This record gives sequence, C-alpha cells and structure tokens, in this order.
Amino acid sequence: NAREFEQAAPILAILHDAGYEAYFVGGAVRDYLLDLPIHDVDIATSAYPAEVQALFPRHFDVGIEHGTIMVWFEGETYEITTFRTESTYQDFRRPDKVTFVQNLEEDLLRRDFTINALAMTDQMTIVDYFDGKTDLKEEIIRAVGVPHDRFHEDGLRMMRGVRFASQLDFDIEDKTLLAIEENAAILEHIAVERITVEMNKLWIGKNWQKGLAYFLKSGLYLHVPVLSDYATSLQLLLDETEGEQALANAEFAWSLMFWRHFVQSGASDLQDSHKAIRQLGKAWKMSNQAVDDITAYFDIWHLRTSKASWDLADYYGKDPEKLLAVEGYMQDQVASGKSLFADLASSADPMKVQTEIDRLPIHSLKELAVNGRVIIAQINPDNKREIGLMLSFLEAAVLDLKVVNEEAALLTYLREHYQAN
Ligand code: ATP
Ligand code: MG
Repeated sequence: NAREFEQAAPILAILHDAGYEAYFVGGAVRDYLLDLPIHDVDIATSAYPAEVQALFPRHFDVGIEHGTIMVWFEGETYEITTFRTESTYQDFRRPDKVTFVQNLEEDLLRRDFTINALAMTDQMTIVDYFDGKTDLKEEIIRAVGVPHDRFHEDGLRMMRGVRFASQLDFDIEDKTLLAIEENAAILEHIAVERITVEMNKLWIGKNWQKGLAYFLKSGLYLHVPVLSDYATSLQLLLDETEGEQALANAEFAWSLMFWRHFVQSGASDLQDSHKAIRQLGKAWKMSNQAVDDITAYFDIWHLRTSKASWDLADYYGKDPEKLLAVEGYMQDQVASGKSLFADLASSADPMKVQTEIDRLPIHSLKELAVNGRVIIAQINPDNKREIGLMLSFLEAAVLDLKVVNEEAALLTYLREHYQAN
C-alpha cells in the first residue's frame, strides 16, 4: 500500500525544492506500517500557509486558522499543515489559536498517541521520536508524553484512545488508561459532535467489544449524553455476543443497544423506545437519517425476535439491506453459541429472508410504478384527497398480485376497479 505515498511524493518534492521540510504524518503512516488501507495522506511542513498557497495554486483554505491548506493534486486532495504546537489550551478543548514552529519534533509532540506521532520522508524512512513503532508492534495505545496533561489539553483524546482500541484491536497502556479513568469527566467540556464521530468509529471497529469495554471500565460513558442509563444493557451486549463479528454500521450498533435495553427493562411500548432513540439522536446531534435508521433497525430486531414466523407482509416496508444485516448477525451469533439470541424461536437464515424479499413485488410505496404526480396527470380526481387513497389501493393490489407493477397496467386497473369514497 505504498502507492498512495508514491502519488503524493511530488508534493514533498515541491516543498523541498522551495527550501522547506516536509513529511507524511499521522494516521496514514500508522496505517501504512500496519499494512491497512490508507485513507488520507496528510503532510506536515515547515512552510507557512501563505507559502503553501503560493506553491500550490489549486487549493482550498479549509482549516487555515489551524495552519492547514487543502491542496488538490493529480486528482486527489491532501491536507498540508504547517508544523505547529497547540500551546494555549482553555477549558480542556483544542485551542482556536495555534503557534507555528520550525521543527518536526515539536509538531509531533502535540499529537495524541505514539502510534499517531510517526512521520515518514518521501524515501519512506520513518521518523519516530516517541517509540511509536515499538507500540505499533506491541499493539499498544500510549499517550505522547504525560497522559494526564495530554487529556487536559484536549479531552477528546480519551475518546480517540478507546476508539483506536476498537478500530485497531490494541490495548491501552496502563498509565494512559489510568489517566482516562481519572479525567473522564473532562469529556463534558467537549463538543458533542466530536464525541459522536469517535463513538460511531468505536462501534464499527474490528474489536468493538474491546473499545466498548474500555469505554465502560474507564467511566467515559458517565460523561457523554444519555448513556449512563444504558450501562447495564451495554455490559449485557458485551457478555452475550461473540465479538469477532463486526457490527454492520453505527446505526445498527445503536439499535442493538436500544433493543437490548427494551428486552432487559421488560418494557412493552415501542413508542417509548422510539422516543428514547430520538432523544439520543438529539443529545448526540445525529442526523434525522441516522435516527430513522436506528429506529428502523430497532423495529426489525423487535419484530424478528418477538414473532416466530413472518408473513410476507412483515417484510414489506422494511429496508432489505437492514433485514439482511440483522438476519446475518443473528445467524453468526447463534452459531457462536453466545446467548444473545438463544431464545430465538426460528433459526436465523439470511437466504430465506432474501427469498422472501425477492418474492415481494414491491418493497415499499416508493417502488410503486405510479406516484401522486402520475395520478394527477392521468386520472385527475376532483377530490385531491383521493390521490392517497388510490395509491394505497394500488399498493394493496400489487402486493396481492392482482396487478403487475407497471404504469399502464396500474392505471387501467385503477380506472376499472377503484371506487371513489
Ligand atoms: P483516521 O484513520 O480515523 O483518520 P487519524 O489518526 O488519521 O485516524 P485524524 O483525525 O485524521 O485521525 O487526525 C490525523 C492526525 O492528527 C492523527 O494521527 C494525530 O497525529 C493528530 N490528531 C488528530 N486529532 C488529534 C487530537 N485530538 N489531539 C492530538 N492529535 C490529534
Ligand atoms: Mg485521518
């Protein structure tokens, strides 16, 4: 996976030729050494932002207040950041103002963990001031410098630590973990959007159980919105599932937590869970789409585990991808012998779910070959209220296989069989 760096090497050359130092830094170097796919190749340089702008005419000034210029180069974008420190921290948050410095070591010193504080030259030589390579090899997450101080500078780093534990399946070094336990409350000063990003990455990591166990053990969960109410359910999830199996996406993961909580609390009203999901979404500043997805997954977990045999109609209106994700997860968990789905009345079988999905002529109203606009254009009922009724009528007829889902056939069927109310 050196290709990404070869592609970016000319950028370093341009900076060198202009008399500046420049290195690859951060996550890309870490992932390169771990032989993982490389996402963004970030560059650190001694050149000031204005000098970077002058050298790379095609740039965007996102993050310029932090010394970062986004450069467009041969079809890719790169973030080029001037060597800097973040000297004046207030309120445990990353500072708005930064101080530019002239050497790489000072820049690397401000980074969170030793594995993220590696740099690499265009000759692919690693620069390693803090023994990050050893920690990579030993699979350890260790704060750069004094952990306590580093978390006081920026509390989000604690969340990043548990996120990396999940993502990389690494252990957190003792002193670093102790400092997270002691400083967990600092998380309350951090903008929730930043916490959400890290939590969602934790959920989808390759060892989410390890990350979640740290998240619970360290007490971080007590200092993020809402989750203190869910500690028992989260612990149950850890105890009752096989962790080898990654979770499909963050919304899938959140829904699993809500469903486990629903079961464990003996609740019976789905509306209460829906409300709780909306509250989480609001408190964690998630998108409406994310809230809808969590709710949709939740409903599938619930119906799937409370109703032994599904009719074809049960599959209707549900997102096929979500149905299959749930069924696949159940199947693997049952096979692992863990207890989460031990009470499942029927066996979990994604193939069968796929067959049922395929049997449905349409999966939701959106797939109906006519919509309100077509009905207005072709039928134009006097009472506009009829439009919705007509669509429901056609939807039912298609699901009952009384008519095929094609525009002309649907319109004919409507004209011949629909009785205005
Ligand atoms: P990912 O694979 O998720 O992108 P990453 O390590 O690249 O992981 P980024 O958020 O892209 O994470 O940050 C790039 C680099 O910037 C990090 O590797 C680290 O060196 C530094 N960094 C990012 N956030 C912080 C922080 N809160 N405190 C200190 N250093 C940070
Ligand atoms: Mg990155």
